[in-house]
Amino acid sequence: MAFRIGLGFDSHEFQEGKPLYLGGIHIEHHAGFKGHSDGDLLLHAITDALLSAIGEPDMGELFPDQEARWKDAPSEIFLREALRRMKEKGYRIINLDCVLVMDSPKISPIKDVIIENLSNIMQISKSAISIKGKRREGFCLERGAVCYCVVLLSHEG
Ligand SMILES: [Zn+2]
Repeated sequence: MAFRIGLGFDSHEFQEGKPLYLGGIHIEHHAGFKGHSDGDLLLHAITDALLSAIGEPDMGELFPDQEARWKDAPSEIFLREALRRMKEKGYRIINLDCVLVMDSPKISPIKDVIIENLSNIMQISKSAISIKGKRREGFCLERGAVCYCVVLLSHEG
């Protein structure tokens, strides 16, 4: 059985008053993420991890942010396209591991609902998904947040 690993990274700056989306879930918060789409950095990092694991161009190349049709787009569109390409190439997800670095909102109270949503979109069990929240602790992003994801895939053939 062939295995492939993919690493995804994303960062966004907070913007006061914009709705906050994390893992496809709308979270009540005073600020959301600046960006052309809905700014969902967790979905962006997962999408890039999948695309790189299967040797496809990254999100920036597939969905250029100069294109008007991606303005305020729900990021689930990007993830679903990456999943479609992954299946087409005969891969399936073994597990997904994500780290969100941000001081607020706190990740632990919203983790379960995000994992539930990801499990539905990605058609994998909740036990195959891990999301950890980390505080910045000196990491230099006062008005921003960062996400890292790794995904492990296996090939059916
Ligand atoms: Zn992004």
